[in-house]
Amino acid sequence: MAKKDIDWGSLGFGYIETDYRYLASFKDGKWDEGQIITDPNVTLNECACVFQYAQTVFEGLKAYTTEDGRTVTFRPDLNAERINQSAARLQMPTLPEGMFIDAVKKVVKANEDWVPPFGSGASLYVRPYIMGTNAVIGVKPADEYQFRILTTPVGPYFKGGAKPLTIRVSDFDRAAPNGTGHIKAGLNYAMSLYAIVDAHEKGFAENMYLDSATRTKVEETGGANFLFVTRDGKVVTPKSNTILPSITRRSLIQVAKEYLGLEAEEREITLEEVKDMAECGLCGTAAVISPVGKVNDHGTEICFPSGMDEMGPITKKLYDTLTGIQMGKIKAPEGWIVEI
Ligand SMILES: *Cc1c(COP(=O)(O)O)cnc(C)c1O
Repeated sequence: MAKKDIDWGSLGFGYIETDYRYLASFKDGKWDEGQIITDPNVTLNECACVFQYAQTVFEGLKAYTTEDGRTVTFRPDLNAERINQSAARLQMPTLPEGMFIDAVKKVVKANEDWVPPFGSGASLYVRPYIMGTNAVIGVKPADEYQFRILTTPVGPYFKGGAKPLTIRVSDFDRAAPNGTGHIKAGLNYAMSLYAIVDAHEKGFAENMYLDSATRTKVEETGGANFLFVTRDGKVVTPKSNTILPSITRRSLIQVAKEYLGLEAEEREITLEEVKDMAECGLCGTAAVISPVGKVNDHGTEICFPSGMDEMGPITKKLYDTLTGIQMGKIKAPEGWIVEI
C-alpha cells in the first residue's frame, strides 16, 4: 500500500475521482450482493425515475487516519439508520441490516491509498446514495434501484483557523414545507440552490432558515444544524421534526454533557432569543463546527459576543473535544469509532 502522491494540505472540498466505487442493484424486490467497480460513470435510461422525479437520497461521512495509524469512520451506524429513514420517505427500498456498513468498509478499503494521512487535516469523504433507475413516466416510485458509494479526498475545512461567518435570516424555506426537511435528499438541496446563490450574491455565507409555518423559530442552514451557547453557558440546539438530524450535532450534545459537564438541551429556539445567545455555530460532518459571528435579520445585525476573529470559548472546547475523540486522542464512547 502506498498513499497517493497528493499535497493533502492544499486539497479543497471538491470532487477528485478515486480508483473504486461500490454498486449494488435492487431488482425483483431484492438487493444483489453488491460489488466494487472501477467505472465512475453511470449509464441509465433517459426516463429513469431519478432524472424525472428526483427519487434519490444520500449520506455523507468521512474516513480518516487516527493518530495511531488506523483507518476509521465515525458513527456509520447512524448514517445507515438515516439513509433508511430517507429512503422510506421517498418510497424506496431500505438496505438490510449490515449492508451499509459493509459497503462503506469495502469501498474505503479499496481506496485506502486515497485516505489522507494523520495530521494532514484532510479526509476521504464517503458519499453513499440510492436512486430509482428504471424508466417511469406516470408519477410513481421506481421498481429498480442502485445503491452506490463514491469517495473523494477532501481538504481540511478550516485552513488557517476557523473564521466566524456572517449569515442572514432567509425569507426562503429550506425544504418543501410538507415535512420532508428531516430527510437527506437532493430534492431539498435543489430547492435551496436559489436561496444559497442569492445569499452569496449579497455577501452572506449561509441562510438561517425559519420554520415555514410561523416564521418565528430557528430551523437550520442549508447543510448544517445550529448550536448555540446561552449567556449562562448552556448548550442549546433547535428541536424540530423538519430539520435533518445531524450526527455531529447529536454527538456534540453528548460531548457537552459527558465530557465537558455542561448543561445541554434540544428545544425550540425562537429568532427573538438569538440576540441573547453568547455563541453560535453550524454543525455538520465537513466542518464539525463552523462558528457564526453575526446574523443579519433584514438589515438588523445580531452580533455574538465571541466576535468575528475566533470561535467562542465553549464552541472551541466542543470542537477540540469532538475532533480529539475522532482522531483517537481522547477515549471515544463505545461504538463511535469504527475501524475499516
Ligand atoms: C448532512 C446534513 C446536515 C449535517 O449532518 P451530519 O450528520 O452532522 O453530517 C445538516 N443539515 C442538512 C440539511 C444535511 O443534509
